[in-house]
Parts: sequence; structure tokens; C-alpha cells
Amino acid sequence: MSLREFTTWRVGGPAEWFAEPDEREQLLALATWATGEGLPLRVIGAGSNLLIADGGLAGLTICNRRLQGSRLEASSGLVEAEAGEPIPTLARKVARAGLHGLEWAVGIPGTVGGAVVMNAGAQGGCTAEWLEAALVVDPARPDQPRWLSAADLAFDYRHSLLQQEPLLVLAARFRLEPGHDPAAVSARTSANLHSRTSSQPYQQPSCGSVFRNPEPEKAGRLIEALGLKGSRIGGAEVSTLHANFIVNTGDASAADIDALIRRVQEQVRRERGIELHPEVKRLGFAADGD
Ligand SMILES: Cc1cc2nc3c(=O)[nH]c(=O)nc-3n(C[C@H](O)[C@H](O)[C@H](O)COP(=O)(O)OP(=O)(O)OC[C@H]3O[C@@H](n4cnc5c(N)ncnc54)[C@H](O)[C@@H]3O)c2cc1C
Repeated sequence: MSLREFTTWRVGGPAEWFAEPDEREQLLALATWATGEGLPLRVIGAGSNLLIADGGLAGLTICNRRLQGSRLEASSGLVEAEAGEPIPTLARKVARAGLHGLEWAVGIPGTVGGAVVMNAGAQGGCTAEWLEAALVVDPARPDQPRWLSAADLAFDYRHSLLQQEPLLVLAARFRLEPGHDPAAVSARTSANLHSRTSSQPYQQPSCGSVFRNPEPEKAGRLIEALGLKGSRIGGAEVSTLHANFIVNTGDASAADIDALIRRVQEQVRRERGIELHPEVKRLGFAADGD
């Protein structure tokens, strides 16, 4: 099964084993099976922050995007969502209920699980700010899911403990602010989406911003100032619209994208003495110890 269709960059080789469960019980049974067989196990969401190598992935890859659903209590602002729920869908839903808090999430094309793992954020908001707890499970103990509080998850800029620990996210609980005018929250949500789609290359395959911002600098501005917009390797191109995006112009391979990432890093290091760190997760690249 090629993983190309399971990433927003539209690159990536085959998974040795692949599953897209419809129910949480199936996900847990698959995790038990892979653990019992001693296979590497990965759960992915919408694949919107992944660079998967052309050689593909050993072991079992589980795509979580069918495990959707959410429940909310408009009076208390409590929202519980399955890990595969698209975060833009959730942002729209809570806005319609007059809950303030997720207006920033509407332009992030990932799942709730991916947002928790990555501490996704945009336009002044982030997951850590509104998450109360995440339901996680250790694949070696699939019968013992447990809630970890936001404090337990050690959130930082685009980082959480879950990037180190092999825990699967099953669901997330947010505490939002109730009692707002649904029309006003929905309008702010739509305005956020509009401002993203007009300044970033949403029509082309990408993974969003490739590099973390080396504060106080912005990665996009640094890359643009070095004249790298439009730079290409194979089918991979530094976006002409937003320099922190690398787009697949049609036939890019993961190797093209990887080489372009390295070229940008080298030039920024050489000319500005700044190390750019990729925000995107690279899977299946031996050099990264994956
Ligand atoms: C056009 C575009 C714009 C973007 N803009 C932003 C932005 O403004 N801000 C931002 O923060 N990001 C942005 N991103 C990046 C991306 O959408 C986020 O990082 C998102 O949170 C990733 O979610 P996902 O479901 O796609 O996760 P994936 O990319 O599938 O996975 C990311 C990581 O999380 C792990 N993971 C995913 N789900 C689970 C789970 N249930 N249990 C355990 N591990 C899991 C994966 O193994 C992987 O390590 C953008 C991407 C695109 C394509």
C-alpha cells in the first residue's frame, strides 16, 4: 500500500503493513497484533506534517482518519473529540455552538490526534492553550487507556511529550469558553481561514511550514531574503507565495523534498549563521535513526 495518498505532500513509498480502522477496538487489536509480532508501529493522522521516505516504512502503519466524532457541552465548553476528527471540522462545529477557543485551528489540515502530538497552532492560538487532557494508550498495554493532563504532556512550541513516548492518542478533551455569539465566532473562524488561503499555497501539495521559526526571526523571511523562493530540486520547489513552504509541483519524490530542505538549511547556515530545524516529521530516513 503506497503511503503517497495518505500524506498532504503526496510523496512516500509503501507501508509493509497498512490499516485504516473504522473503530477504536480495531485500532487496539491491530496495535496488540503488531506489538506481539515485534513489528514497528506508527499511527498517522491526516499525514499533513509528514515526509515519508520513497523506500516506505517497515512494520505496521495505521491511519487514524476514519476514527472521527465529537461531543460537546455548549453550557460548560467541554468538548471531547476522537483522535481522527479533522481539526477544521471541530473548529467549525464549536464555533456554531458559540464556543470560543479553536478559531485558529480551521486552516490546519490535520486531525485532533496530530494536533495534540504536534501542539499545532496558528494565528496566536495553539492546542496546548485549550486542551484539558488526552486519552492515550501504550500499544504494549492496549487494555489500559488513560487520560494525561495538558501538564503531563509537557507542551512547548510545536512539541509535546508524545513526540518521544510511543503512546497512541485515542481522544482529546478541550475546555473552551462558552457563551459567545455563534455568528461572531464563526465569522472569526472564516476570516482566519481566508487569511491563510490567500497568503499560503493551499492549492498545492505541501506540509505547511517546513521549518520552525528560529525566534525572533521568521524562517520564511530568512529564506526569502536569501532569494530562495522558486528554488527547485526535481519536482520540489520553495513556494513562490510563502518561502517556508516547499510544494510538490507534480512529480516530486521524498528524496527531492529532502534534498531541497538540506539545501535551504545549508544556505541559511552559511550566509546567516542560523540553524533551521524542520517542523515536519521525517519517517523512514535511516540517517535520522528512524
Ligand atoms: C497547508 C498546510 C498548512 C499547515 N498549517 C499549519 C499551522 O498553521 N500550524 C501548525 O501547527 N501546523 C500546520 N500544518 C502542519 C500539520 O497540519 C499539523 O502539524 C497537524 O497537527 C498534523 O496533524 P496530522 O493529523 O496530519 O498528523 P500527521 O502528519 O499524520 O502526524 C504527525 C505526527 O503525529 C503522530 N500522530 C498523529 N496522530 C497520532 C495519534 N492518534 N496517536 C499518536 N501519534 C499520532 C504521527 O505519528 C507523526 O509523528 C500545516 C500543514 C499543511 C499541509
